[in-house]
Amino acid sequence: MTIGATDRYEVVIIGGGPAGLQAGLILARQLRRVLILDGNRPRHSATLEAHGFLSRDNIPPNELRAAGRESVEQYETAEIQFAQVTRVRREGQGFAVEARGVRGTPNRHVLAERVILATGLKEHFPNLPMLRAFYGTHIHSCVVCDAWNKRESRIAVFGVPEAKTLAYRAAQLSRIGSHVTLFASERQVPEPDAARLRELGVAVDRRELEDAVGDRATLTGLRTADGEIVPVDAAFVLPGFEAQLGFLDEDIRPDLTEEGLVAADGSGRTRVQHLYATGELTAPGPEVLIISAGKGARTAIAAHRDAVGF
Ligand SMILES: Cc1cc2nc3c(=O)[nH]c(=O)nc-3n(C[C@H](O)[C@H](O)[C@H](O)COP(=O)(O)OP(=O)(O)OC[C@H]3O[C@@H](n4cnc5c(N)ncnc54)[C@H](O)[C@@H]3O)c2cc1C
Repeated sequence: MTIGATDRYEVVIIGGGPAGLQAGLILARQLRRVLILDGNRPRHSATLEAHGFLSRDNIPPNELRAAGRESVEQYETAEIQFAQVTRVRREGQGFAVEARGVRGTPNRHVLAERVILATGLKEHFPNLPMLRAFYGTHIHSCVVCDAWNKRESRIAVFGVPEAKTLAYRAAQLSRIGSHVTLFASERQVPEPDAARLRELGVAVDRRELEDAVGDRATLTGLRTADGEIVPVDAAFVLPGFEAQLGFLDEDIRPDLTEEGLVAADGSGRTRVQHLYATGELTAPGPEVLIISAGKGARTAIAAHRDAVGF
């Protein structure tokens, strides 16, 4: 396939969430020719409202992204396309990027001097068959985002077997809920921490969970492995996360941290020349929209600065 001048970009950003869009905005305002390719399948599409983003509190997440795209697209050196990137390989000092169109958009094959990865993370949950049905409405993963909306509720806390911060989450929520139950094994929350949580009024339940139980669309409880249904109005689950970077050729795959995040310096530079990573793909992992956007800005500034060469 021949690549024309219109398919050459100074920066291609993979992922059009808050991190990728903010990076695109900063680069467009530096007159950089930039393309954002976005598969448009963000983790947070499960929720109806995003909370805590200054001046955009309670906005539906899709509206926030649409407003972000509008900001970027007003610059004529910037372009956004819905497409899933399927392969990135080294081409000279830069990269060749292949993407498959989604819902009728064309396939793309472009060259990029620099690539910014802003693809977010994929989450996996404990095996509770009905969890997904309540995810984003009654079961949440982000305490900072959604706890306020669950004040004075009966709240449960649980997570994947490898979850390390369940005790902290339960302690946070003990200030918010009318009653908080933490479902955790001794490996997840050792007894000394459990004792401190009980002092805060948290019930620590060592039983395994089997499923979420509801009345139509409303969560009413969690069923334990011995069949008891513990009544709750809301729950916070700590998922496991993984970066999905199979589209990068092996020789340009960045190192990963112990947590499976992309290893990068504070501005998102990876060990691979001209390859950057940003948003929740980088340490410390999932946080909130405004932090991902901030990381996107910082990475864009670094990429711009590296290109200027001073
Ligand atoms: C259910 C839920 C509710 C949340 N609620 C809130 C809230 O109320 N307030 C708040 O501040 N934060 C909230 N968050 C957290 C917030 O959504 C994330 O912190 C933020 O979206 C991360 O931004 P990001 O740009 O790094 O990644 P994302 O927003 O996940 O964006 C990544 C994008 O990259 C795309 N992508 C991935 N792979 C490819 C590929 N190969 N090719 C092309 N595109 C690709 C994805 O489709 C996606 O559009 C919530 C998260 C979840 C899961």
